[in-house]
Amino acid sequence: MVKAVVGANWGDEGKGKITDMLAKEADIIVRFQGGANAGHTIVNDYGKFALHTLPSGCFYSHTTSVIGNGVALNIPVLFREIQEIVSKGVPMPKILVSDRAQMVMPYHILFDQYEEERLGGKSFGSTKSGIAPFYSDKYAKIGFQVSELFDEETLRDKVVRICETKNVLLEHLYHKPLLDPQELLATLHEYKDMVAPYVCDVSSYLWNALKEGKEILLEGQLGTLKDPDHGIYPMVTSSSTLAAFGAIGAGLPPYAIQKVIVVCKAYSSAVGAGAFVSEIFGEEADELRRRGGDGGEYGATTGRPRRMGWFDCVASKYGCRLQGATDVAFTVLDVLGYLDEIPVCVGYEIDGEVTTEFPTTVKLEKAKPVLKTLPGWKYDIRGIRKYEELPENCRRYVEFIEEQIGFPITMVSNGPGREDIIYR
Ligand code: GDP
Repeated sequence: MVKAVVGANWGDEGKGKITDMLAKEADIIVRFQGGANAGHTIVNDYGKFALHTLPSGCFYSHTTSVIGNGVALNIPVLFREIQEIVSKGVPMPKILVSDRAQMVMPYHILFDQYEEERLGGKSFGSTKSGIAPFYSDKYAKIGFQVSELFDEETLRDKVVRICETKNVLLEHLYHKPLLDPQELLATLHEYKDMVAPYVCDVSSYLWNALKEGKEILLEGQLGTLKDPDHGIYPMVTSSSTLAAFGAIGAGLPPYAIQKVIVVCKAYSSAVGAGAFVSEIFGEEADELRRRGGDGGEYGATTGRPRRMGWFDCVASKYGCRLQGATDVAFTVLDVLGYLDEIPVCVGYEIDGEVTTEFPTTVKLEKAKPVLKTLPGWKYDIRGIRKYEELPENCRRYVEFIEEQIGFPITMVSNGPGREDIIYR
C-alpha cells in the first residue's frame, strides 16, 4: 500500500512530523519532487533536525529512504545531511537514489542568485537553491541524470556543450564569471564518487516492494498552493507538489496511492511573495509567529520570518481537494491556546461578491477575507491523547473547520513530537 503525505497550503504545515510519525509503520519513504529549497523540521529522541533532502523517515533503522526521479538532487547537500544525522547518533540510514533523478548543478545555484539579483524588487523570493533553473533545464532537456555520471565520454561532451550555452547568458545577460568545463567535470566526478553506492533503479525496486506487500510512504514538499499548475502561479515552486505527482516522481502506478494524508495547519503561514488573503500584520502576527510551530515560525532553510495569517477555509478546501485528501492531519493546534477569540477566513470577497472557491491569481490578488470569529479555549492542550478530552471550544474549532473544508480530519497534532497526536 502506498500513502502520500502532502501539504494543503503553502508548505510548513508539519509534514515532516507526520511523515516521521507514520514512518514507524512504513518500510520505504520516498521523496518524489522538489529539492533542498524547503525544509522539514523533525523533533525526535535523537534531537531536532532540519532535513532538506533526506526523507523524514530516515531516523528509523527499519526503513529505506529513497530519493525518487522527480527530485532535484543536490548531491553535496544530501551528503552533508547524512553526515549531520549520523554525527548526532542516528544509525546510518539505508538510502537509495534513483538513477533517473537529475542533479542540481553548481551553476543552477548561481543562475538562481543572478536571476533574483537581475529581477531586483520583482523577484520571486527564491531560496536560491537552484530549483527553478534546475527544472527549467530538465524540461528543456539539458539536465544531467545521475545515470549519466557513469558514462564518461558522453558526460565530457555534454559538459562542454552545456558550458557553451550557459556561458552566453553569463557573459551577456548577467555579466558574471564564465564556467570552466574542466572544473565542472571534476565536480561531477566528485558527485559520482559520493552517489555511486546508492544508485538504484528505483521504479523497479518500488514495484517489487509493492508486490511483496511493503508499505510505502511518499513525502511531499511544500503544498497545493505552490503547485505550478494548481497553485498561485507564478508564485509557485517548479515541480508539482500534488500527491498525484508522487506516482510520476517515484515511478509508481497511480492506482497504488490509496491514502492521501493532507497536512493542514491550524493557522496559516507562508514564505516568499504572493497573495495571502488571510494574512495578519503587526503585533498580532508577531505574537503568532513567536508562539508558532516549535520555536517560532521561521523558515527551516533560510531562517526568514514566515508571513502569518488566520486559518483559510477557502484555500484549505481547495488544497485538500486538489490533493485528493482521504485524511486530513490538522497540526499545530496547541499553538492557538493563548487566544481569546480565533478569526477564521470562511470566504473571499472579490469585486463585491463572496465566494468559497479558490480563484486564479489575478482574482486572488483582489480578494479580501471574510472572517468568522470562533471562541478560543485558553488552555494548553499539549499532552492530551484523546479527542474527547480536548476543551469544548477546541473541538468546535476542529469540527467547524472540518465542515468548511469538507474532508475528514482524522488526526489532530498537538505538539511537535512523534507522540503528540490524537486520532479521531
Ligand atoms: P513541513 O515542511 O511541512 O514539514 O513543516 P516545517 O517542519 O517547516 O514546520 C512545522 C514546524 O512545526 C516544525 O517546527 C515542527 O516541529 C512543528 N510542529 C509540527 N507539528 C506540530 C504541532 O502539532 N504542534 C507544534 N507546536 N509544533 C508542531
